[in-house]
Amino acid sequence: MQEHWQSALTDMRSKLAAETFETWLAPIGWGGCEGHKLRLLIPNKFYAEWIRSHYLDILLGLVRDKSGIRDVEVCWEVREQTELPQPAQTVRAPEHAVRPVLLPKAAAPARVPKDLNGKYRFDRFVVGTSNELAHAASIAAAANPGARYNPLFIYGGVGLGKTHLLNAIGYGVLDTQPNARIVYVSAERFTNEFIAAVKNHKIGEFRDTYRSQCDVLLVDDIQFLATREKTMEEFFHTFNALYHANKQIVVSSDVDLKQMKEMEERLVSRFHWGLAADIQAPEQDTRVAIVKKKALQEDIVLPDEVAHFIAETVDSNVRQLEGALLRLAVAAELRKQPIDLASARKALQGLQPPREGLITVDDIQRAVCAYSNVALSDLKSPRRHRSVARARMIAMYVCRQRLNMSYTEIGDRFGGKDHTTVLSAVHKIEAQILSQDADVLANVQAVQQRLNRS
Ligand code: ADP
Ligand code: MG
Repeated sequence: MQEHWQSALTDMRSKLAAETFETWLAPIGWGGCEGHKLRLLIPNKFYAEWIRSHYLDILLGLVRDKSGIRDVEVCWEVREQTELPQPAQTVRAPEHAVRPVLLPKAAAPARVPKDLNGKYRFDRFVVGTSNELAHAASIAAAANPGARYNPLFIYGGVGLGKTHLLNAIGYGVLDTQPNARIVYVSAERFTNEFIAAVKNHKIGEFRDTYRSQCDVLLVDDIQFLATREKTMEEFFHTFNALYHANKQIVVSSDVDLKQMKEMEERLVSRFHWGLAADIQAPEQDTRVAIVKKKALQEDIVLPDEVAHFIAETVDSNVRQLEGALLRLAVAAELRKQPIDLASARKALQGLQPPREGLITVDDIQRAVCAYSNVALSDLKSPRRHRSVARARMIAMYVCRQRLNMSYTEIGDRFGGKDHTTVLSAVHKIEAQILSQDADVLANVQAVQQRLNRS
């Protein structure tokens, strides 16, 4: 399969401008294949979005033709930092283009658990008043795992750095205890593995992984367990076993302990044993610092005034700040011109924050319905007709972005949809915006403008 993939790339090289090929396709690494699924290694997650929306169909078409296999699929894997080529070997992209992330300066620990993301370390985290408590607690937990801040409960809205801190704690522990066994898991994966373990009679192995073979347990997005009683119970026992063995436990959540109504009381009370630290949306100065740091890391040349402009325009969460920066970089790359204020204004049109007044879920739903010609009742119904589903996803995305509501709250306001449905809708629209899907962009911008006027 590898030769078919390489040969497809060679074909693409002759079809695309050299710069485009070098920027987007050359950095893709071959990670092997399982059955008909190709594992492709990419420098960062944006590559996946970009390639998916621009070249994937053509690439897969070529691989299918060459191999004669119809059901070829791909999965993306962000390359571990330590596996990246040295800068000298990195493909040279134009001055202003997005280039693969360079090697981190800190020495890599001896043994890095495969689930930790090397991009998320303390030295890449910008500290401001919005996150200083969570950051300080994370540093302390990493320096002295299992001691004072145990368990550590980090909560805050989406895209504010919870996952980043969890990973950084993992790396931080490894800096001083290279043999520590760090287990990073999302509550969703914990749930899926638990269900599979029960089904396949492998509960012993499951418990071994999370109880016996673990010195630091990092559980991301614990709110996912809220309605899953069996898994919650299992997690409760995992928690107790680790806690009593003085192992560090760090948990993140996008809701505050007080709001975890569906979470079992005894579990919530465990989280109270340690420290709960919140992360707020970053203030302007921190946003500027984050954008600048990010540009530096991704080798994007970014004038100061544009950094300030982005930080003023996108004030909700850090993931969106990064998305905005990337959009500018991609637009500049396509125009073959450096980023400047005028192009930034154009590229980020429609993302401006609300001018005044409070916007409600009703306002958002009405604005979306008006734009897409969908009835309000359909928006809240289970209907899956394409245009209805699209409008619903956009409305959910805007609710999340403008009102920073939890997925569960949004689900409630859309006729009682499950929070995972909301989560995947929001992620889907985010991805489409990042890949500059013209339809979705126009739609979201129109809704935003309508809201800003109201
Ligand atoms: P959450 O888990 O809270 O939804 P993430 O940790 O995934 O958020 O953060 C979203 C993105 O924003 C990540 O790429 C992360 O590196 C970045 N980020 C968040 N906070 C900061 C910060 N204070 N400094 C630098 N990058 C940050
Ligand atoms: Mg996260």
